[in-house]
This record gives sequence, C-alpha cells and structure tokens, in this order.
Amino acid sequence: MDLELVTVGTELLLGFTVDTNSAELAQLLAPHGVQLVRGTTVPDSAPGIRSAVADALARTGAVIITGGLGPTKDDVTKAAVAEIFDAPLEFDDVLWTGLTERFRVLGRELAASNRTQAYVPRGATVLTNRWGTAPGLWLEGACGLVIMLPGVPYEMRKLAEHEVGPRLAARQPAHTSTAILSHVVRTAGIAESALNDMLSGLDRELAPITIAFLPQEAGVDVRLTSWGARADVARRDLERAAAEVVKRAGVHGYGHGDEDLAAVVLERARSAAMTIAVAESCTGGLVTGRLTAIPGSSDVVIGSIVAYHNKVKTEALQVPEDLLTSHGAVSEPVARAMADGARRVFDVDAAISVTGIAGPSGGSAGKPVGTVWFGLALGRETATVERVYPGDRRQVRHRAAAGALFELLRRLPS
Ligand code: AMP
Ligand code: MG
Repeated sequence: MDLELVTVGTELLLGFTVDTNSAELAQLLAPHGVQLVRGTTVPDSAPGIRSAVADALARTGAVIITGGLGPTKDDVTKAAVAEIFDAPLEFDDVLWTGLTERFRVLGRELAASNRTQAYVPRGATVLTNRWGTAPGLWLEGACGLVIMLPGVPYEMRKLAEHEVGPRLAARQPAHTSTAILSHVVRTAGIAESALNDMLSGLDRELAPITIAFLPQEAGVDVRLTSWGARADVARRDLERAAAEVVKRAGVHGYGHGDEDLAAVVLERARSAAMTIAVAESCTGGLVTGRLTAIPGSSDVVIGSIVAYHNKVKTEALQVPEDLLTSHGAVSEPVARAMADGARRVFDVDAAISVTGIAGPSGGSAGKPVGTVWFGLALGRETATVERVYPGDRRQVRHRAAAGALFELLRRLPS
C-alpha cells in the first residue's frame, strides 16, 4: 500500500534535529509492502500540520505522522488531525490510569501537562507506548487513515515495529501479502560511471527489480530493489539479480549487505592460510586500522609500520636511500620497495604499501594532490598500482585505504 509521511517539528526545519525518523520508518515499513510515496516536514504549527495532512489524505488516503505528540504547548499534532476528522478530543480513562501507573513505577511526579496526553480523538485506537509517555494513535474514517507516532526516535521505532507494522500487514490478505525488499552488492576499485557501463542493459533484464548506484568513499554500492512481489518470490529474484551483478562486476564485486571490505580481505587471506603486513605513509595507519577493527584479525595481520618520514622508510622498511632521492617518496619504485621491505621485516606472505600525496599542499604538475602508489608484495613478483583520487585530504586518505585493501583482495587466491 501507498503511504505518505509527515514529520512534525520546528527543530527539523531549523536543521538542529536531523530527521532520522523518515529513513527509519521507510526501512521498517517496506518489508510489510508499504511504499512511502511522499514525505513532508512541517513546523510545530496546527495550521501547517492540518494542511499537510489534509493534502496527503486527499492525494494518497493514508498518512503516517511523527512528532508533536508530547505534553508541551508546542505539541499540536493530535488536535490538528482531530480537526480534519471532525472528531472531538475525549479523555481516555484507561490511558490516564496507565500513564499514572507508569509514572508511579518510575517514581516520577505527573505534571499537569501530562493530562493532555490522555486525550484521544473520538474513534481513534490507542497504540500503547510501553517505552514512553506519548501514546501512538491510529485514526481511520471517511477521509482515510492517519497514524500518529511520537517524535522521540526510540519510541517511534518501537511503536512502528510492534504496533504499526503488524496492523499494516494485517490489512493485506495473506495470499496477496507483498513486500518491498532490497539487496545491496558492494563494489570497490571502480568509479560509478565505469560500473554503470559494466552493468549496462541489466536494468532491462532485471525489471521490475530496480538498480540504484550509491557511490561512497570506499566504493560504490549497488542497491537492487524488488517492489511489491510476494516476499519469498522477491527474495529469490533478488538473489538471482545479485548473482548477476556480482558476475558482471568481476573483481570489483566483493560483498553483500553491510559486509566490510577489510573483513572480506581477512577472510580470504585466512582461508588461504596467509599472513599480512602493512607499510603506510599517507594513510598513516588507516589500512591497518580497518584490518585490526575486525575481531580475530590477529591470526592474519602480523604488523604494520607507519613510515611517514623518509627516515622510517629507509631504516624500518629498508627502502634504499637513492630511490627516495631519485624518484621521490611518492613513486612506483618506493611503493615497491616499501612493500618488499614490509614483507621481509615481518616475514609474511603478503604485504601492502601505500605512499601518496593527500594534500592540500605537496602536489605538482607531474604528481597532483591525490596521487597514490600502492605496492603489493605477494607471490613471486611485487605489483604496483597508481591511482589519482579526487577530494580533500580526508577523502583521499580514506579512498586510498580502501584502494589498498581492494588491490590486495584482487590478488589473493579465491
Ligand atoms: P516531539 O514528539 O515532536 O515533541 O519530539 C520529541 C523529540 O524527538 C524532539 O525533540 C527530537 O529530539 C526528536 N524528534 C522529533 N522528530 C524527529 C525526527 N523526525 N527525526 C529524529 N528525531 C526527531
Ligand atoms: Mg515536543
């Protein structure tokens, strides 16, 4: 079913509160076959809420609202919606008793303003809030369906999960019950446009499943979405579609869902019984940080040297001094020598090195800011790769760290 979303809060429009409720609700409701077709944000003002909700009802017939259900004067959602339905607010004794009991258990004093929370538009169903004081409300009538949830994200989430999701699911007869489901394929080492070319024509092949490209610092995620098929059918189709994306993406597709690139590297190295060491210059430990953030990494990662100053490159990694003077620290021969050095020093099966210009200064015509050389010492030969990353210092460093992990991954035995 289609649903519109109205988030209420002056704070949201001032930008001091980030609207996380919209994103969370969209994710929570999709598995129940609910598609959010439009979202509107309005301030804590009764006329603003009234017109947004009335418009949404006229367009779509069903609205979910978060915010403005608290006990304070600026919480006016309930009254605004009651007006649309022409439903008077009535005192609900059961709700009041529950609230009183809740405050007694918490050892808190009930404020006079809390009494407003026990008023309910006539005909509304109370969605019991066991996680806070503002109950959710479900109001259905001639003008459509309105679901009201508190703004506090934790309470909103709990009510959406326990009260709203099941009620919406129950509105669909079992045999027609559908879901909106997604599957993410993760890629690295390739730009969005190049990946788009590799997957060209796939959107037609996979329709009605849709494809979205989500470029991030560490790589491009490909989100496949199935809209409104039966959940088991959707899952099967998504699995097939994901396999096709992975096949087309070749070495670049490394994982699914929220799988981490570093975790995939470790897993691959572990199953090949290989050990890893790292030599980092411009990334200053980011590669090692990502690897060692994964529990159990110590059986694969032996050690790392942050070789920032040339002295450390020559002394700790045994990079020949003349390479540094004749080619510069950011160069193919130095990247190679750093990786070879790390492999020797730590006596490992595979070593990665990173040396680059993170900026903002230090660039030149031949070596612009963002130039990064990787060295990959494994097998018989040490490979080197040059990349030029866009972005500021932080982005170049993080992109380089992901690039290093990807260059290692593609060389590990699969
Ligand atoms: P309210 O129910 O509107 O009084 O909101 C209570 C609190 O919930 C606010 O002070 C915000 O911190 C938070 N909140 C309200 N709406 C949202 C939203 N859309 N996303 C995230 N937090 C919210
Ligand atoms: Mg409030």
